[in-house]
Amino acid sequence: MSAPVVIIGTGLAGYNLAKEFRKLDGDTPLLLITADDGRSYSKPMLSTGFGKNKDADGLAMAEPGAMAEQLKAEVRTHTRITGIDPGHQRLWIGEEAVAYRDLVLAWGAETIRVPVEGDAGDAIFPINDLEDYARFRAAAAGKQRVLLLGAGLIGCEFANDLSLGGYQVELVAPCEQVMPGLLHPAAAAAVQAGLEGLGARFHLGPVLASLQRHGDSLQAHLSDGSLVDCDVVVSAVGLRPRTELAAAAGLAVNRGVVVDRQLQTSHANVYALGDCAEVDGLNLLYVMPLMGCARALAQTLAGTPTAVTYGPMPVLVKTPACPLVVSPPPRGMSGEWTVEGSGADIKALCRDGTGRLLGYALTGTAVQEKLALNKELPGLLA
Ligand SMILES: Cc1cc2nc3c(=O)[nH]c(=O)nc-3n(C[C@H](O)[C@H](O)[C@H](O)COP(=O)(O)OP(=O)(O)OC[C@H]3O[C@@H](n4cnc5c(N)ncnc54)[C@H](O)[C@@H]3O)c2cc1C
Repeated sequence: MSAPVVIIGTGLAGYNLAKEFRKLDGDTPLLLITADDGRSYSKPMLSTGFGKNKDADGLAMAEPGAMAEQLKAEVRTHTRITGIDPGHQRLWIGEEAVAYRDLVLAWGAETIRVPVEGDAGDAIFPINDLEDYARFRAAAAGKQRVLLLGAGLIGCEFANDLSLGGYQVELVAPCEQVMPGLLHPAAAAAVQAGLEGLGARFHLGPVLASLQRHGDSLQAHLSDGSLVDCDVVVSAVGLRPRTELAAAAGLAVNRGVVVDRQLQTSHANVYALGDCAEVDGLNLLYVMPLMGCARALAQTLAGTPTAVTYGPMPVLVKTPACPLVVSPPPRGMSGEWTVEGSGADIKALCRDGTGRLLGYALTGTAVQEKLALNKELPGLLA
């Protein structure tokens, strides 16, 4: 039998690529390898589970066996690849060598962990996949107070969701506003006020200096000297594309695994997409770009070399306490911001010198204008 197309990762990137590939090629052997349990799920739903009262099993959409059947593929679960040997078109799972025709890296990004002093480091939970989510739900059962580290998009979504789930949320982050870098300050203030309306409390400026056990609960010491009592901690301080194995194999890496518009790495027959990939300089940790990459790469793998293009990619942030859609200006473009509206309803627009719309942040009722504005936005990768 000829060597298979091998995809590393069964996240949205890996499974969607496999689906798109099977639409074009029903015969080439396909092997998916994943370090986790291989269940199909939609990662964005992880920050809606408490509000919807769904545990990890409730968020899982299909078992790996069902995916294997649907994709006419072999799916190897709980299997971590440990090396790539592009010169010989094979990869390593410990001592076992696996040959590939084409190799696709869809192995995602890992959570950044910040060191914290104290005896309760094991009460800090990252939530970056379904198994993390299951662990956190088990730890949070019967508890009341969650300390949340990070005020980025994911931290704010968890603040909303955990508040809806009945938890008292205390959010700590060393920045002046929520979603710094992504969001205009006026829109950030609206989102923060919306979350405060649910009862979440914000500690913006300090970091968590140490975490100590204190009887049955935990005591967080912040760097500004304040103390916060809590029962469990969620860390959402950011993600870093996984690049280590690629770099060790001699592939070009920068912020992510470096690929061109055809999603090819610096080595023939090795491709990357999703959170791990830096596509023509862009590493975007969202679903929309990875879907575009999956469609283009499926064509390439099926024999028609195809470049990916990105249109406008506004991000719908799941903070129902204050609806938010944001589309930051594309890299290298800057303009002037204007802000209309007040309170929860903010329309912040960024235009260049000729009046062309480059980006926006819409909150509250202003999100209704997104479809009309999207038509004016520039693409991210033309
Ligand atoms: C809480 C949360 C909410 C989000 N909400 C949104 C949203 O609303 N909208 C949006 O667009 N995006 C959202 N995102 C981002 C989006 O979910 C990700 O961009 C997307 O899921 C990434 O998919 P991926 O397949 O590239 O990576 P992953 O889903 O991380 O998959 C990586 C896969 O690689 C495997 N793997 C890793 N290393 C190895 C190895 N050495 N050997 C074998 N297998 C390995 C893993 O086991 C896994 O199967 C959210 C993210 C989070 C965490």
